[in-house]
Amino acid sequence: MTIAHNLGFPRIGERRELKKATEAYWKGDADYASLAATGAELRRSNWEKQKKAGIELIPSNDFSFYDQMLDQSCLVGNVPERFAWNGNNATIDVAFDMARGTREAIACEMTKWFDTNYHYLVPEFTRQTAFKLAGRKIFDEFEEAKAQGIITKPVMVGPATYLSLGKVTDDSGLDKFALADQLIPVYVEIAEKLAAAGAKWLQLDEPIFALDLNDAQREVIKKAYDALAGVKGIKIMVAHYFGELRDNIELFTSLPVAGLHIDAVRGVKEVETVATRLGGETVLSVGVVDGRNIWKTNLERAIGPLNMVRSKLGSDRLMVGPSCSLLHVPVTLRSETKLDDEFLNWLAFAEEKLDEIVFLAQAVDGNVDQAVLSTNQRAMVDRANSARIHDESVKKRVAAVTEDDYKRHSAYTERAQKQRGKLNLPAFPITTIGSFPQTAEVRKARADHKRGDLSDAGYNAFVEQQIVDAVKMQEKMGFDMLVHGEFERNDMVEYFGELLAGYAFTKFGWVQSYGSRYVKPPIIFGDVSRPEPMTVRWSKYAQSLTDKPMKGMLTGPVTMVEWAFVRDDQPRSETVKQVALAIRDEVVDLEAAGLAAIQIDEAAFREGLPLRQADWKAYLEWATASFRLTAGGVADETQVHTHMCYSEFNDIIEAIADMDADCISIETSRSQMELLDAFVKFNYPNEIGPGVYDIHSPRVPATQEMVDLLRKATQVLPPERIWVNPDCGLKTRGWAEVEQALIHMVDAARELRAAK
Ligand code: GLN
Ligand code: ZN
Repeated sequence: MTIAHNLGFPRIGERRELKKATEAYWKGDADYASLAATGAELRRSNWEKQKKAGIELIPSNDFSFYDQMLDQSCLVGNVPERFAWNGNNATIDVAFDMARGTREAIACEMTKWFDTNYHYLVPEFTRQTAFKLAGRKIFDEFEEAKAQGIITKPVMVGPATYLSLGKVTDDSGLDKFALADQLIPVYVEIAEKLAAAGAKWLQLDEPIFALDLNDAQREVIKKAYDALAGVKGIKIMVAHYFGELRDNIELFTSLPVAGLHIDAVRGVKEVETVATRLGGETVLSVGVVDGRNIWKTNLERAIGPLNMVRSKLGSDRLMVGPSCSLLHVPVTLRSETKLDDEFLNWLAFAEEKLDEIVFLAQAVDGNVDQAVLSTNQRAMVDRANSARIHDESVKKRVAAVTEDDYKRHSAYTERAQKQRGKLNLPAFPITTIGSFPQTAEVRKARADHKRGDLSDAGYNAFVEQQIVDAVKMQEKMGFDMLVHGEFERNDMVEYFGELLAGYAFTKFGWVQSYGSRYVKPPIIFGDVSRPEPMTVRWSKYAQSLTDKPMKGMLTGPVTMVEWAFVRDDQPRSETVKQVALAIRDEVVDLEAAGLAAIQIDEAAFREGLPLRQADWKAYLEWATASFRLTAGGVADETQVHTHMCYSEFNDIIEAIADMDADCISIETSRSQMELLDAFVKFNYPNEIGPGVYDIHSPRVPATQEMVDLLRKATQVLPPERIWVNPDCGLKTRGWAEVEQALIHMVDAARELRAAK
């Protein structure tokens, strides 16, 4: 019999119960017992839901109060020395210290989990690192489920992925992969204990199979699974997801383990090869239900690969599952009372995906629930043909885009001259990245307006007053290029998404980003267009208040798509192109409204890079093209800026230059301008604003610090192409510190001008 299988379930709760409980505990408003009770209730209800849906192999230890990678560090006793851990049991308080930092110890670094918007805590390794079994969570949760009548399949991050994603933090020259010899025995010990407790399966997540692997990683994988496969009384399943296996297919299929899981959404092309290669008794879990997106599965289409695997391996060696853990999708559609039935009928969140898995597992064994299948087929047809998705004018416009649309009229040098003539800026022009502090007052006005307690007129007047104040302040301080402050925006993607056709928003569609931070990504369901100008009224108003140039402020097409759930019925690049055209309209309208400079933020440009290097070129080509399409509609005199929040540009600098923005602002203050290296080496041809003020901290940098940073920049870049600005927008900061820091920043720019 084919088994209905799950890899992981969202831990946050239908109503973000986990967030409320952890934050209350951190604040001291709730004790440990109440936190633990919330955790236990979430697990109980998640297991219950899965059991009721008919999932036969249910995961445990997929729950976490913060992050599964952090849990793994605790489980194997890898707590950095600075947290002064007693060395015995790494409890939840130890985990929270690592995640959040203490007065004595800075928090562990956090970074993105593969190409998701989920962040994990980076394991740290030093010469002193010694692993040992130090956590009970995985065992406790197994027992907990057992008491509920469910023999779960415990899940943990596999040893190769664990070592690969960690970093060496001392300067010992340690080879982190050499730690495998110490780490693997701890994994073996865990497997043995779970076997003794009665677990039948143990899932080890190794998504690094979706990456380009080096020899050291391959060695660790071989060693680890040779050792783990030897543990008696428990079956090991290695789970691969987030992409194709490609050159790793041989290694993967030759692992001597009892089960393998593959991502049959992104890796659908490889299912047959994997099944053909599988020898002996190995079970294959085929992840046909998309764990990364919110669309209903096309059940009829999903049965195809399942039937093929069944015919090769037999149903006793087949499991059906989601492509990856369901952690990356919202919990349930049941709460979405705001969405209409037609739209709801296209979606499946985690709970609904469980039903799809169960249907498919039964269907492949011949028990096709015809009613479910035909309802699903109708939903597929309805969505494919819906007038809400297809906008002929958008399709025509995309098809009519010409080479010229991707270009400014003249090359940068010529544009720069014209812009200089028009803008008449001093050396080291001073500007900011766009947003000013989103005070409680600003957020309240927006909430009141949304609720209907503040009229449109009242809200508009409020925002205008904020703009007046911001303009006055910038003039008084001596800024050369002003911004309106973005007071009207809740979020740089949501604001535009709400005004564009083709976007939808859920009410409870939260997904964990990190710890107690959840995001509610918009859904791009149809052809995107801009019914009306989105920012013009605010920018135009701001410009009317001053003789200084005002910078219009927009979010770029890659970021608009990257931070959303995206339609799966056309290539991502096509969706990005539609968004680019919509934003291009706004750029043109801003120019017509008298804005001499327009900034198009691409915060997620680097984030969109594919996991495999071989795929970078194609991505960078359409991503840079989409930027040029967005910016290509304006005259040479109009100055186009872009902004990117980070940092590492080494491997994408050519593409950045290819975007051909007149000016790019980047984050450089924390790295002491080191991050400029890529620009210097490449001879980046256009203007740059290297951030001189670290906006991630409330600390006010002294004038001299910023002078030093700017001097460093002038040593490596032509001074006439340098701008002065902070690292990023100021919306998360308070006014008091911002005012001080900006005064210092202006003083620093003046000092450089004087020295020239
Ligand atoms: N213009 C945006 C702001 O200032 C840019 C933010 C970002 O790129 N993260 O807030
Ligand atoms: Zn930024």
